[in-house]
Amino acid sequence: MRDENCLFCKIIAGDIPSAKVYEDEDVFAFRDINPQAPVHVLVVPKEHVCCAACVTEENSRVVAKCFEAIAKIGKAEGLESGYRVINNCGEDGGQSVMHLHFHLIGGRKLGEKII
Ligand code: AMP
Ligand code: ZN
Repeated sequence: MRDENCLFCKIIAGDIPSAKVYEDEDVFAFRDINPQAPVHVLVVPKEHVCCAACVTEENSRVVAKCFEAIAKIGKAEGLESGYRVINNCGEDGGQSVMHLHFHLIGGRKLGEKII
């Protein structure tokens, strides 16, 4: 279900342009506008789920679909030697867009520390 005020729902609907890298029935993925590495893709469920803390038994299927997409995108982007998947959740987690999304970051050797 779409949230009319949500930036990523608007991107998924095509109302705001994006550099799309992948789409299927449940998942949309596009390049981050402010990339932190040579490859920085945002993988989002088409269903509006606000954040990781909003995942439930009823909607968790779309999380699995996001990770299936991440594996495909990682291969398509040539990230055979690995990558990092990040989810920011809520205010303390640094989440700025309240539509669940996974940052797929790679294309260079990343720092060993998580934060
Ligand atoms: P987060 O801080 O985890 O909520 O991540 C939100 C991400 O969305 C940031 O990395 C932004 O650079 C990215 N972002 C914001 N607006 C756009 C946009 N219009 N197209 C692509 N990425 C965007
Ligand atoms: Zn949304």
